[in-house]
Amino acid sequence: MKPAAFRYHAPKSIQEALATLAEVGREDGCVLAGGQSLVPTMAFRLAKPKHLVDINGIAELARLEVRAGKLCIGACVRHAAFEQPVVEGPLGRLLAEVVRHIAHRPIRARGTFCGSIAHADPASEWCLVAAALGAEMVALSTRGERVIPARDFFDSIMTTMLAEYELLAEVRLPLLSDDTRFGFCEFSRRAGDFAIAMALVTCRMNGAKISAPCVAVGGVEAFPRRIEAAEAALTGRAPGAEAFVAAAEAAAEAVEPLEDDNISADYRRALVRTVVQRALERATA
Ligand SMILES: Cc1cc2nc3c(=O)[nH]c(=O)nc-3n(C[C@H](O)[C@H](O)[C@H](O)COP(=O)(O)OP(=O)(O)OC[C@H]3O[C@@H](n4cnc5c(N)ncnc54)[C@H](O)[C@@H]3O)c2cc1C
Repeated sequence: MKPAAFRYHAPKSIQEALATLAEVGREDGCVLAGGQSLVPTMAFRLAKPKHLVDINGIAELARLEVRAGKLCIGACVRHAAFEQPVVEGPLGRLLAEVVRHIAHRPIRARGTFCGSIAHADPASEWCLVAAALGAEMVALSTRGERVIPARDFFDSIMTTMLAEYELLAEVRLPLLSDDTRFGFCEFSRRAGDFAIAMALVTCRMNGAKISAPCVAVGGVEAFPRRIEAAEAALTGRAPGAEAFVAAAEAAAEAVEPLEDDNISADYRRALVRTVVQRALERATA
């Protein structure tokens, strides 16, 4: 099928984009970033925006830089930018590890980090990273700037706190200290498919004991989140099967998995147990 008719806008500056969004946001206008989620839904007429505000011509939005201890990712930075570490240290390596699981190369070449966050698919790897690391989302509009912490940003399936007239201009990720360890594990049916369950774990070591653990799970509930019960099961414990099984069990118990015709809640819960345990093993290997 072909998309329904729409009016195309190609602003050349952020101010111009915000002015256009202020005008058309409430009349079914939306941002076009990489188009890798929006265009297929338009082709199936699941989305019929009346206006598309294409941000790809705005050079300022392609910035990827470190400022004040944070990696600042502009709205036009593509997934593929992260295939090689973009910063020294664990954060660059973590992003390079995770990006391999997003779709296929042609999609990674066009799709954007911020587009994934704005789209908020429950199985988005970048949404999991944002939730795990405590990202900040920078939303701009003609009314000004809002910086929204990840824990407040995701509302439900594919729904965020962004208003229709706001542009997600940048996402900021805190740099990780050199001694941060991380482990990621995703289960999907085929390489490149969306995750059915995935876990991202970070921690540090205080002597032989785990400190400051972060255990986050995605692809399971309406949006990814940290699982405090799993983190509590790890804090101050020696890495190893006993602590990992306890944390994995705590995570599996804490989630309320989505289910559909193909995947039951029980199956997803069992996968949570597996992906959390494997992510922990990878973090501490
Ligand atoms: C076959 C296939 C497999 C895929 N597999 C995966 C996968 O495994 N994991 C995964 O995470 N993704 C996957 N994707 C989705 C892909 O990662 C998209 O690139 C991503 O979800 C959206 O980014 P985009 O830049 O393409 O956004 P677009 O498609 O342009 O936009 C998506 C939505 O977000 C809004 N939006 C985009 N940018 C902004 C912004 N800066 N401010 C405000 N609103 C904005 C748009 O208005 C639209 O509603 C897959 C896609 C395809 C086609």
